[in-house]
Formats: sequence, structure tokens, C-alpha cells
Amino acid sequence: MENRIAETLKILTEEDKVACETVRISENEPAFNKKLLFIESYGCQMNFADSEIVASVMREAGFATTSDVDNADLIFLNTCAIRDNAEQRVRTRLRQLNVIKKKKPGTLIGVLGCMAERLKAKLLEEEKMVDIVTGPDAYRDLPRLVEEAETGQKGVNVFLSREETYADISPIRLNSNGVTALVSIMRGCDNMCSFCVVPMTRGRERSRDPFSIVKEAQDLFNDGYKEVTLLGQNVDSYKWQAPNSVTAISTNVDNGTLETQVNFAQLLEMVAQISPELRVRFSTSHPKDITDEVLHTIKKYDNICKYIHLPAQHGNSRVLEMMNRTYNREWYLERIDSIRRILGDECAISHDMIAGFCSETEEEHQDSLSLLEYVRFDFGYMFAYSERPGTLAAKKYADDIPADIKQRRLAEIIDIQQRISLERNQKLIGTVQKVLVENTSKRSVNDFTGRSDQNKRVIFPRENFKVGDYVDVLITDTTAATLRGYAVEKVPVS
Ligand code: SAM
Ligand code: SF4
Repeated sequence: MENRIAETLKILTEEDKVACETVRISENEPAFNKKLLFIESYGCQMNFADSEIVASVMREAGFATTSDVDNADLIFLNTCAIRDNAEQRVRTRLRQLNVIKKKKPGTLIGVLGCMAERLKAKLLEEEKMVDIVTGPDAYRDLPRLVEEAETGQKGVNVFLSREETYADISPIRLNSNGVTALVSIMRGCDNMCSFCVVPMTRGRERSRDPFSIVKEAQDLFNDGYKEVTLLGQNVDSYKWQAPNSVTAISTNVDNGTLETQVNFAQLLEMVAQISPELRVRFSTSHPKDITDEVLHTIKKYDNICKYIHLPAQHGNSRVLEMMNRTYNREWYLERIDSIRRILGDECAISHDMIAGFCSETEEEHQDSLSLLEYVRFDFGYMFAYSERPGTLAAKKYADDIPADIKQRRLAEIIDIQQRISLERNQKLIGTVQKVLVENTSKRSVNDFTGRSDQNKRVIFPRENFKVGDYVDVLITDTTAATLRGYAVEKVPVS
């Protein structure tokens, strides 16, 4: 049974908020003679990247994006289905949008993404104001679905593909600071974590061809971008096989190595070689797949950020087995030890953790807490278990931890992580961090905000720097979420 507990995600850092709480809306484009498209995106970075593909597809169909929902001809909600509260937010939003539709009956509303895929045509029955339902692999079909909806015919396309990677589509950057960009390297997921709806909503795993990835990153760099984040549900299982027509490709400019297959370590290297001035990040790593080869590649390139998001999900081996994560506590800790051995304590590590999974005992919960103490993560994304219909866990196990106990266990996890995040950040006081300037600080126009190599938010006086500069910042103060300091010298990039 769907457990509608209030999942009060006491999110730790600004980064967490960006990942889980922020809703991104499209921006105004020049719109002469064009219809207006408003896109609101929920959930993970993958969804934000997908909205940029959607904007590109719709531009070809004569739409320009707008940030003004009241004036839009077409409204898309790009949705998340990972937890029940994500879906409830979308339903609430749809009711608000219905008011706009009543005032302006010609306005069309489309629900895209994971919630669309999960509920399919049922969504049209449940939410009468919706005109279009489109799953993550059907975005090329949007212009046709919109055209049909304009004639009053509601449209659904939730076909999941084994090939679609949108490799040939140049995303239109939305909410861009002109400095950092998301680049999808694969789609779908072949793991069957028992709690997770993603394999059902995003289909089978497929890797995008490496040339199109490198070209996209190179184009971004040529346009002034300084950081790309390579995205996939499990980037370590990235694997591209050259088609028969391509006998071998070079993955390494230094020694001209020729390969017919490209794995994630090689892809990372190819992107890192674009320029030492282009920072490379990636997410998400999977503990069962992250190899020492990847860790050595990170070490080899200064511009591959020393930061790894390695979701643990739990600290107890029995629960991990029920979660079908295919590793146990010892395996996870061995991977952590390898990161520390190869990349040192300076490499930041973050995690995802789920509290109150089916049948979790108090002792097993304690194992999650002790894992946090052992690893000393820099930050984490922490959630109360939310049963998702159709998942293995929903079919096999009772969602039997009462809501108040889930919340208490979650709060304990968050408290420990808060303390450790603060302690990890305090160790950086007195050090100099290389910060890529991203934006003016929300709190003061006199400050800039950017991120360190280790993905920590850093705020410092703007002086004469500009967005896109690398700045050496001496850290003088910190909270669990944000470092503060002042510029000591501009970092020369060798
Ligand atoms: N692919 C990533 C991985 O394997 O770690 C995770 C992607 S998922 C979009 C992000 C996070 O949401 C997961 O790591 C997990 O912690 C959390 N999550 C997924 N399903 C959940 C559920 N049913 N209840 C609570 N949290 C969930
Ligand atoms: Fe979900 Fe597991 Fe795939 Fe991550 S690896 S998307 S948690 S099934």
C-alpha cells in the first residue's frame, strides 16, 4: 500500500536542494512570431538535462521558451516519480495550472518524464486538464503530439526505447549561468534496486556514442563554459561498442591508443583532454561498478574534480541484499578505502541513504549510522523510504516501518551527517581552494558564489572577478553547507 508519510527531507546543503527540491523553469527567449513554451522541471539533474533536449525539439517546431507561465501557449511539467511526495507536488501544481487553463482555454498542458511513464494514459483520466503525456524516450514525438492536441485530441507516447540517446540533438541550455552544463552520457538503468522506480520509468540502459559526448563538451567549452557534468544513473557501467563500420577509435591523445570499446574511465579521459581549463564532473557512481581504473583516471587529470557521489543506501548487509544493491557493507567500505588510498582524504565523497526500508531493525539502522561515522562523507542526500507501486520491494516486502519511526531514524542520519559535514568543512579553514565562479550570491550582490574542486559551495567578495573565472580562495569560515573566504590570487591554469 502506498505510504503517504510526510517525507520531510531536511536537506543538508544548497547542493541537495538543487538536486532534490528545486524546480527549474524555462527562461525567456526572443519570441518573434513564435508560440511560447513554459517548461517546469522537477527531480534530478537528468530531468533538467532532458528539458534542454525538449526545448531544442520544440524550437524546431516553432516554439520559444518563456519564464511567464500565464502567457504560455504550451506548458510542460517534466516530472519525477522517485518518491510519492515528488508526484504529489506535480498534482498540486496541475491544479494551479488548471486555473490558468480556465482563463485561457487554448493553453495546452503536457506531463513529461518519469511520472508520465509510470502512470501512462491513466494520468489523462486522473488529471482532466492534461492534454499530452510523454515518457522520457518519446521527446522527438512531442511536436506531433502537440499538433494533435491543438486540434483537441489528447495524446500519449510512453514508448521506451532500447536505442534512443538523443545524441544528435543539441540541447538548449536552460537556467544557464554560461559556466556549468549537464551532459547526458547514457540513459535508463539495468539495475533492479528493489525500492526504485527508475528502471520502469526510464527503461533499459544504453550508452551514448563518445564522439557526440566529446563534441558536445568541446562545443560548450568553445562557447565559454568551464565545467561539464557527465550524467547517468550508473556512469561506471558506461560502455560503448564501436559499430562494425568503425574498426577502432583513438581514446587517448597522448599515446594514440586505439579501441573498439569505450568504458567510463576512457570516456572521462577523452573529455578531460579537451582542455585543462574545462572541469569535468560526473554523477552517479555505483559502488558495484566503480573501478580502480576510474579512480586512477580521476587522479591523473587535475581538471577531473576530486569528488565522488557514491550512494550507499544502507549500512547493513541484510538490508542491502533486500534492496538488491548487489554489494554488501564490506564491499562498499572496500570501495571507500580504495578511493582514500588512490585519491587521498581530500577527495570529497557524498552518499544517498534510505531510512526505514522494509523490516529494518533498530540494530540495522545503527549500521547505517556507523557507516556514516566510518566513511565521514562530505555530504549526503537522505530520504525516508517511500514505497513505489510496481517495484520489487512493493511486490515482495511489507512497508512496515511506522512513519514516525522512519522520520526519527532519518533525523538521526541527518544529524550525524550534519555534524560530520561541518567537521569536514572545518578542516578546510586555512586552506586555499580553487573556486569556479558561477553566480552572484543570493544573499549579497557584493559576493560571488562558486564551487571548489570538491563540489563545496564557496562564497567570497567579488572584487574584480567575473563569472567563469577560477579564483584561489582562502577559506576563513564555514557552516555544514557553505565555505566562506576571500580571494588570494587568481589561479594560473597551466
Ligand atoms: N542511480 C542512482 C544510484 O544508484 O544511486 C540513484 C538515482 S535515484 C534517482 C536517487 C536516490 O533516490 C537514490 O539513490 C535513493 O537514495 C533515492 N530513492 C530511490 N527510490 C527511493 C524510494 N522508493 N524511497 C526513498 N528514496 C528513494
Ligand atoms: Fe534506481 Fe538502482 Fe538504477 Fe540507481 S542503480 S537508478 S537506485 S535502480
